[in-house]
This record gives sequence, C-alpha cells and structure tokens, in this order.
Amino acid sequence: MRPAIWYGIGLLLLCSLWMPAKTPLTPVHVVQAMMLEEEEPALSQRRVAYRIDVKLDPDTKQLIGSEQIVWQHPGRKPVHELYFHLYPNAFAEGSTFLKESGGTLRQDRMDPRYPGAMEITALRLPDGTNLLPSVEYVQPDDGNTDDRTLARVVLPTPVYPGEKLELDVKFHVQLPKVFARMGFYGDFVMAGQWFPKLAAYEIAGQRQRREEGWNAHQYHAHSEFYADFGTYEVTITVPEPYQVAATGRLSAVSEPRHGWRHWTFTARDVHDFAWAASPDFLVEQRHYPDLGTDGLTVFLYLDPAHQSAKERYFRITRQTMAQFGQWFGPYPYDTLRIVVPPPGASGAGGMEYPTLITAWDASIPPSSWAVEQVVVHELAHQYWYGMVATNEFEEPWLDEGLATFTENKMMASLVPEYGRLATLSPILEPKPLHLPAWEYGDDTYASNVYLRAARVLSGIEAVIGEEKMMDILRTYFQRYQFAHPSTEDFLAVINEVSGKNFNDFFQRFVFSERMVNYRLNGIESEATGQPGQYRHRLHVSSENALPQTVPILIRHVDGKTATVMWNTQNSAEPLVVEGEAIAWAWIDPFFSNPMEIHHVDNVYRPVHEQTVATWAARLSYWLE
Ligand SMILES: [Zn+2]
Repeated sequence: MRPAIWYGIGLLLLCSLWMPAKTPLTPVHVVQAMMLEEEEPALSQRRVAYRIDVKLDPDTKQLIGSEQIVWQHPGRKPVHELYFHLYPNAFAEGSTFLKESGGTLRQDRMDPRYPGAMEITALRLPDGTNLLPSVEYVQPDDGNTDDRTLARVVLPTPVYPGEKLELDVKFHVQLPKVFARMGFYGDFVMAGQWFPKLAAYEIAGQRQRREEGWNAHQYHAHSEFYADFGTYEVTITVPEPYQVAATGRLSAVSEPRHGWRHWTFTARDVHDFAWAASPDFLVEQRHYPDLGTDGLTVFLYLDPAHQSAKERYFRITRQTMAQFGQWFGPYPYDTLRIVVPPPGASGAGGMEYPTLITAWDASIPPSSWAVEQVVVHELAHQYWYGMVATNEFEEPWLDEGLATFTENKMMASLVPEYGRLATLSPILEPKPLHLPAWEYGDDTYASNVYLRAARVLSGIEAVIGEEKMMDILRTYFQRYQFAHPSTEDFLAVINEVSGKNFNDFFQRFVFSERMVNYRLNGIESEATGQPGQYRHRLHVSSENALPQTVPILIRHVDGKTATVMWNTQNSAEPLVVEGEAIAWAWIDPFFSNPMEIHHVDNVYRPVHEQTVATWAARLSYWLE
C-alpha cells in the first residue's frame, strides 16, 4: 500500500522539483479493444479461474454480481472445505477491521453514515446443489464472532488432488464511502477486494509448510492480502458516460444500450482483479515498445484536477519501469493502468493491484514530488506484491519493505537527497519485522514494516555493496516470481548470492526488534605537556553493531575539524586522539549506517558551542 515516508515527512509536499505540463486533455470515450492471443504460455500455476459479471448501481452504490469459479486442487490430500474472503464486510459494524482501526486508517476516517458490506446470495455446485446453508463465518485470528470477512464452506463431497471444482456464486456489495482502499466518492468508484474470493491453498513445502492446506485470515486494519494466481474474465456494466480502468487487457466495450455499457477485461497470471470507474476520468494511453517483455501500454485515468501533471505521470512510469526491467527483469504483462482518484478520495489512493495502481488522490499539489513518489512505490509493488506475491497477512515486511527499499533507490536516482530523507524517517518503537500484520499497532505497522524493513535491507547493502544487493534482488525476483516465497526463502537467496551468512543478522534485525545505536558517552582530556595540546579519550559505545568502521567528526576549539575512523569491534576501549581542545565530536555525521536509529546521542560537546546546540536541536526535530 501507500508509501510510508508520506506520513513521516509531509513536508515533501512543499517541494516542487518538476515543472507541471500545460497540455490540455480531452476525455476518451471508447478505448480501443485489444485482441487476445489465445495461445500464450502460462507464467504461473493458474490454480483458479474467475468469470465475473458485475453491475454498478450508481444510485445505491451497490455492486450486483455473479461469478463462476473453477478451482484446481494443487495438493495431495482430499479437501473437504473451502474458505472465501468477503472483504467488504470489514466496513460493517462490529468487524475486526473497525475494532482494530477505530474507523481511522492512516489519517483517513471512515464515514459511519456509509458503511460497506458483502452478501453471498447464491452458492451452488454445477449440479445445482445449494451450498449456502453450509456457509459459516469464521474468525481464526481473533475469535470476534461479529467479523464476517472470512467464510468457510463445507463441501458435500471432497475434492481430490488434481480435480477441478466449479462453483456458481451470486453476490451483492454495498460500497462504503471511500475508506481503506475501496468505495465510492461522488461518481467515482474504487472496486478493490470487491468479489467473493477463494483463500490461497498452500501445498506442502510452500513457505516451509509441513502440511498442505488453506491459508485463510480475516481482514485486519493492518493486513493486506494473499491469493493464488489464476485467470480472470470480468465484465463490468456501468452507466454509459463512465470510463473503466481494470486489471488486465480490455477485450471488449459494448455499444451503449439503454444508457449502459459492458466493459470486459481479461487477465492471466494475476492473483487479484481490481477496477475503478468514473464519468470524469480523462483517459490517455501511451505505448512503449521498449518496455516489458514485448512492449507495454500505459493507460492514465486522470482526475481533471491533475491535468497539469499528466506528462509527469507518464514520464515517471516510463523511467521506473525501464529501471526495474534492468534491475530485476522484464515486466511480463502488456498493460499497466494508473488511476488518479478525485480530490478527497484519499482512501482509494496509493494502492497496488496486479497491472493497476492508484496514485495519491488529486488533492495533493500537482507540482509536488509526491506525484512521482507514489507511482514509484506502487510500481515497485508490481514486482514484489504482483509477481513475487508474498503472504501479506503473515509476512507483510517482505512486500512493503522491499517496495520501500526499491522506492528509495529509484527516487534517490532521481533526487539524490531522497536517500538521506529516508534514513531520517522516525522509528520510535522498533518491533520484529517477521510478525503477522495484525500484531502491529497503528503506530508501529508502517514504521516497522515499511521504514525499518527498508533500513534493514539498506543495512545488508551497506555490508555487501550495491552491486551484490541488486544481484540478490534480481535473483530473488527471477527465482520466485509467481511462487509465493517466505522470509526463509529470501534469506537463503541473500546468503547464496552474497557468499556470506546473514542468519545472525536476520536473528538480530528481522526476527527481533533490534537496531543499531552508536553513542558518544563522554570525552576525557589531559594535557600532553605541549602548549594547547591534549590527549583525548572518546568513550564510544555501540549496541547491536556489526563489526564496522565508522567515521567520527571532531571539531577543535580553534575551528579545525578532523575525521577519525572507529572500528565498532573496539567499543570496550576508548578511542584516543591527540590535538587541540575539542569543541564537539560526532559519530557518523553523514548517516552512513542506515540501521542506526538514534542519532541524538552520537554528539558530545565538552565545551559549549552554538553549532552543536543548533545541530542537536535540528536532529531532535527530525528524529523525535
Ligand atoms: Zn506499499
């Protein structure tokens, strides 16, 4: 989901690094349909296939849908039950999501007058057997019996390994007013997590799992999603003036009939399907033959308030996808859609879906570099969430941490100061990174799963160098795309490619909440006998530091500065320096160690000097 630095440093909005373009846009009413090639090799195991018909009622803000699901059993044991995610019930009274979030998620407040809900109105096997009576809401994570975001369905006969199970489902969704990724805002609709969706079925060995089975969790305030790869064919019926953005290729748009149009999209080798619709979108597309495996068409669905930023959305998308292709490997899909929600629909902004992302809502100044930042972050998810597809319920750091690390790297290649800003982001309460999403609180989720995770990855890079780090990410992506790896799998790639053993590093910084802290506890000085010359003993210490050489900047009272290098392995011994009286000394003044989170105690000044006080005050401002 949305980049986390946004919350730490809102000041970024004030920066304006790109000039807005002035080209006016014209609405495009019919986007040309593309032909589907039938014979395309599968990239994923395609364990599930959805055909969905859904109609938007623009007055009641409801979705009325029917779906045919085909699930192919990938395991070795008979399956007696299924699990469905009914995500829109997160916005119904009593839900775990609302209890955990208190109705506020990351500064967005849910409007209690417009809750959301989902109901399955029919569930049948192809022979007509009615499965509705066996639908039971379950709450494996917290036992909250009012939560209806996960349902179990007991099957009358088991599904055997390799068999296909077909289901016919009918459903209604009441869209909430936009909150936490979905809903309506005026005529705008963001349909994410909007259809009854099968949980993921993991086979033995997948993510080190001993026994095969469903991996099913409720929808939590701080959890995202996890699903099997498959195929989708979705027909979306909306009033004629609406434009529709969705996952995958647009295969057909009907002529208007009685004021309605049908938009059909087809997607393969994806694990989710989202769409957005609005009569106000300004739609434009660009084809880039040099991007992706075989060319990439980027579609922009722009709120009119961001017309002036149009060229920047295209430019950053092109730059980023070209760079990610070089770093990690080609993007294998041929479409990418970017939705800019209307001003005020911030709950829909900054979200990733397969081949579709949402930018910040158009209330942000179109000249701010947050325009680029959010696109870069969500495009990073196209790799780590979209294709590598880790379990965001149980291991959210793998996706958000890698997305934030990748975002920082890409943004730093455009704006060198960005890397420095990223290391200043506050981490007030470190937690282990390897926790399920719902075990973090509102104040610890983003700061750990995004920011601390990205710093830990930067800490690995600081040990092995950028080239090896990018080798690791490329190997990890290429080995595990479409394969749902775990933290253990990621660690194994790090060890293999780096040729080093990071097990202890992971124990300290991933599986526990430790971070590095350097401290300058004091300076003792004694005269050497030479006029104005002293022998200084700098009492330095470090917590959790790996053996590392760190610079210490020393300023003498005569105004001269010197840098001495300190090996953190020698923490027990004071560091001895000779020279003039010291005004102040500062460990790691250029923030070379991204794992260090508490810089204020790095500075010591035996003699008062204004500079130190000023810097300490500035640091406190940033860090606390
Ligand atoms: Zn994210």
